[in-house]
Amino acid sequence: MRKLNLFIFIFLTTAGMVQAQTIDDKFNKFKEQFIENMWKVYPGWASSVGYHKYDSVLVVPDEASRKKELAFCADESKKLAEYNVADLNDANKIDYHLIENQLKYAAWNVNKLKAYEWDPSGYNVCGSFADMLGNDYAPVNTRLRDFYKRMGKVPAYYEAAKKNIKNPTKEHTRLAIDQNRGGASVFEGDLKEALIKSTLPAAEKAQIVARARKSADAVRAFATWLEKMPNPAPRDFRLGKELYEEKFAFELQAANKPEELLAKAMQHKTELHMKMLEITRQLWPKYFGNTQMPPMMLDAIRMMIDTLSANHVAAADFQPAIEKQIPELIEFIKRKKLIYIDPSKPLVVRREPDYMAGVAGASINAPGPYDKNGNTYYNVGSLAGWAPEKAESYLREYNHYILQILNIHEAIPGHYTQLVYANQSPSIIKSILGNNAMIEGWAVYSELMMLENGYDGDNGPDSRQASPEMWLMYYKWNLRSTCNTILDISVHTNNMAQPAAMDLLMKEAFQEKTEAMGKWNRVSVTQVQLCCYFSGFSEIYDLREELKAARQGQDFDLKRFHERFLSYGSAPVKYIAEMMKNGQQ
Ligand code: ZN
Ligand code: ZN
Repeated sequence: MRKLNLFIFIFLTTAGMVQAQTIDDKFNKFKEQFIENMWKVYPGWASSVGYHKYDSVLVVPDEASRKKELAFCADESKKLAEYNVADLNDANKIDYHLIENQLKYAAWNVNKLKAYEWDPSGYNVCGSFADMLGNDYAPVNTRLRDFYKRMGKVPAYYEAAKKNIKNPTKEHTRLAIDQNRGGASVFEGDLKEALIKSTLPAAEKAQIVARARKSADAVRAFATWLEKMPNPAPRDFRLGKELYEEKFAFELQAANKPEELLAKAMQHKTELHMKMLEITRQLWPKYFGNTQMPPMMLDAIRMMIDTLSANHVAAADFQPAIEKQIPELIEFIKRKKLIYIDPSKPLVVRREPDYMAGVAGASINAPGPYDKNGNTYYNVGSLAGWAPEKAESYLREYNHYILQILNIHEAIPGHYTQLVYANQSPSIIKSILGNNAMIEGWAVYSELMMLENGYDGDNGPDSRQASPEMWLMYYKWNLRSTCNTILDISVHTNNMAQPAAMDLLMKEAFQEKTEAMGKWNRVSVTQVQLCCYFSGFSEIYDLREELKAARQGQDFDLKRFHERFLSYGSAPVKYIAEMMKNGQQ
């Protein structure tokens, strides 16, 4: 009897284990198939992440392709529904949510947002053709043959676009005209260069050139058609409350609704102003002696920011200054035990490659999901050849203080560090459908975290406290993402007009006119995207404070919190929070 019981017990346990294993195994297979099927529906997206099987395919954006997309969403949703999310392991739970969100979002785009009717800038083949020439993922002859096949559909592509467009917004129409006109040269100069490097027979090259001419014509004809198209009742570029709220939910997968995030950002802005005023008062005698401080708070702060901005490197020292800081940041993080940094995966700092030239600053260039062993580069721009006034204005913007914050954000412990952790729990789903609010939110959070722990390049690796100057400039920087959020939500859901937007950015966020204008242009052709920085940042910060409070006076292990948080990969913060709270630290 006892033996039998034991036997049953063992049997049940083993069966349970086997079953638990197979559900995640089964789900992993489903994920692989899901991605394979997805690339058939979105071949351009596949190419852009380094999956080159469908490079020769250009989808004509007609009714049939939209039906195909919806069928894909319905099929995959059905397959997904066979799983109970509660049965999956943590990593797969998050993947489940990401897939579910993607499928619903895609269907919503087709059925409800219908940007294909009102946003002509969604039609542009030039960038994807340029990628085929610019990236040498395959021999040039192979790429050119795919290029040739793909061009076959360019005229049909723009014909379908013309049929789709109805009462487009003026802003997206303008953008489409500029971008298509600017991009058409890919079928001329860029292609010519690739043909010179190629060993294809002359006859084949001639065919390519002939088809390229037709493609360039189709691109330019589309721009001209847009220009001449009568559009007596253009749609407002503002999304409006309902559509915005829905897009916000899909895009950010955040814990808050737009109006809640707006209230949070407004309050944060006020707090930042108060802190900035306090520092301005403290620093005033040091920089202005007996000069009277202006009575208006924002004027006084602006004067202090302007004065501190003069502390910047010379144009020629811009790259070396960035390079020098990377090891300093690592050293500081080690001493303060803020997060483990894997020494076997060093960041490769390089001068900006030619094709990126002209975009100064710094950016992370990470290998895609299909090229995992590729290097991660930190591209640092040079100001060589810039007009002196342009360089001066840029250097004032990326002054001594902001340059350090930029390095924290882009490299260590910001984007680069997050990426290293994300790669340790590899999930093709997370690398393709990863959550931008988490990714940007982490980088923004890491800026504050470093300063909280005393980081200040001027004080060396043992710095206990950042200088008031550093804090003031940090607050100015943080105002940018805070005001981006206020701007985006206010413009799209509360009808904020351009003068009020310029006031917000120039007076309250201390931006130069060119920067503020750029932001206005951006908010009139994008939606929600500008919120991802502050949304992710505030959720990560809140999570940390909540877990800290739960420790009730016991030491809170900041390093452990960071490592655990990043171990979930590029997942929406609300799911990470759920799991961290359930698992408890
Ligand atoms: Zn200067
Ligand atoms: Zn970023």
